[in-house]
Amino acid sequence: MKKILGMNLEYEEWQELLKSLGEPAYRADQICQWIYEKKVDVLEEMTNLSKDLRALLEERVILGFPRRMKGERSRDGTKKYLWAFRDDATVESVLMRHGQHRTACLSSQVGCPLDCAFCATGSGGFQRNLEAGEIVGQFLAMEKQLEGPIQNIVFMGMGEPLLNQENLFKSLRMLRHPKMRQLGIRHITVSTAGIAPGIQKMALIESPPRLAVSLHAADDALRSELMPVNRLHSLEELRRALYFYQEKTGDRITIEYLLLRGINDEADHARALVSWLRGMHVFVNLIPYNASSEGENFFRPPFPERVISFQKILEEKGINVEVRRSRGGDVAAACGQLKKKELEEKTETPAPSGRTYGMGEKKKEKAKDRRGRPREMAEGSPRGEDRKKRTEKPSKGPSKKRRFPD
Ligand code: SAH
Repeated sequence: MKKILGMNLEYEEWQELLKSLGEPAYRADQICQWIYEKKVDVLEEMTNLSKDLRALLEERVILGFPRRMKGERSRDGTKKYLWAFRDDATVESVLMRHGQHRTACLSSQVGCPLDCAFCATGSGGFQRNLEAGEIVGQFLAMEKQLEGPIQNIVFMGMGEPLLNQENLFKSLRMLRHPKMRQLGIRHITVSTAGIAPGIQKMALIESPPRLAVSLHAADDALRSELMPVNRLHSLEELRRALYFYQEKTGDRITIEYLLLRGINDEADHARALVSWLRGMHVFVNLIPYNASSEGENFFRPPFPERVISFQKILEEKGINVEVRRSRGGDVAAACGQLKKKELEEKTETPAPSGRTYGMGEKKKEKAKDRRGRPREMAEGSPRGEDRKKRTEKPSKGPSKKRRFPD
């Protein structure tokens, strides 16, 4: 008999399973209490279940949180974990502390197919979607380590949550369920690179979570260079989806705007952002680029004066804006960096090349060329002097970051 992965079961599915074994429904409550409250992921330790029932379940169900492969603590208290699943695939999650409140930053995929130019996760390629139980498992394993509750979740780890909708939505139901983790839905934020149809879909689920969008540019040409997904879902399509989400939920939307020196951090970019945001109720998070501690970085963080003037332009137009303090810099806490570090330590062979979301082979090749560094961007590039060399000989290496040495 093929075993079921117990972490993937919703409360009602546990009830059904137990009923099929001739057990009363409240056994589901007991099991969920062990897993979600006491963080016990071994049937043997569930001592209020009879020995016979435990043996019966043992034959049918596999339980288990992900295994911790690495854990690092930053000077500011941010913790970063690398988790491994049953197939040895690994993802990261980050734990941040704000006073008494803790926020877990979870991954939704192993790797990511979107290939954003600045992101360490994208350079490692895409492996697979996480299952609902693996998403929830990261969270419970972190709470277990901490021996205390985490109040908030943001889906800003590895992967694009809205390309893994079914598992994402299932994990939200499990995290929220009164018999499971009972987390307030307002304490969960899903961040997307702009999968417009996914945003529309999420607006229609029961109790939609808060929404954050990684915008990073309010101009299609520039955004497409930074985030190839923009070629599939333009800024106009994205804006329509955001309006729809706002209409359905009434919630303020968080706009994340990564600031890259000389690329998207000038006054004109700020003004374009202001005009793009017209009519939306938003909170803008300005994020200075977090340079990877390993290898070379093509991009660079903005000068502090630029950050201030960018922020001012938004504030003058009445937009709520904050500069996100970089957290966990010394533990490689930007998306995908810890895993990248681990891969580089482990092996000299290149990480698997990325699948490009929704693009045909031809486009994929073009996108690769673009990664060989965009023409548009070269003008504003802090390292424009490399341009000639780059356009003549696009490198075929695995990491775009390694392609642009100083
Ligand atoms: N795919 C989703 C969620 C994962 S990325 C999304 O795009 O929103 C989480 C956030 O980290 C995104 O806003 C992403 O743009 C940002 N990010 C990626 N690399 C970064 C870096 N080096 N420095 C700062 N932020 C980065």
